[in-house]
Amino acid sequence: MASYRSVTVYCSSSDKIDDVFTDAAKQLGQIFSENHVQLVNGGGRVGLMGVMARSVHEHGGRVVGVIPHALKNLEGIAYSESDELILTDTMRERKRIMFERSDGYVAMAGGYGTLEEFLEVLTLKKLGYHDKNIVLLNTAGFYDELIGFFRKMTDAGFAKDPAEKYFQMVDKAEDVLPALDLRN
Ligand code: AMP
Repeated sequence: MASYRSVTVYCSSSDKIDDVFTDAAKQLGQIFSENHVQLVNGGGRVGLMGVMARSVHEHGGRVVGVIPHALKNLEGIAYSESDELILTDTMRERKRIMFERSDGYVAMAGGYGTLEEFLEVLTLKKLGYHDKNIVLLNTAGFYDELIGFFRKMTDAGFAKDPAEKYFQMVDKAEDVLPALDLRN
């Protein structure tokens, strides 16, 4: 059996989004499968999480979903086709497992949950808790304002280093794996 690397992808649970984002999630799913990268995600079948997980499977790859019991019990939420579906008692435990099971981190477009997860791995890297690569996929300029705000934080002295010191931003799904550089 081919050996897999694992990458956690944080992304939207919303389905009410433009095709440009679902297309990027489909493409990234295909790229993960073709490169033997196992997807670790929040275990949802909704939003970009579900789109990417289905694409990974359509192309023969592997999906590890990590989801709290409480969310799994809500009908139609969990991606039960996951090759491994890890159930946790709390959201904190879920994030810990998503963090530990991964060789690198990707954030795609998303809402509050995605932003929180992305900022947590960024902050942990800044504090020296890990040295894995983090990639922000800035589909259609979705995160442009956030980057502007990060600059404001640095300019105003609230952050010592530019945020880009801790992650790499790319525009296209095909640039994600080269930026992650999983050989590290
Ligand atoms: P959001 O960006 O607010 O849509 O939240 C998406 C992120 O939070 C994902 O990366 C998940 O880890 C988690 N999440 C939020 N809602 C769900 C859900 N319904 N099912 C699974 N995970 C979710």
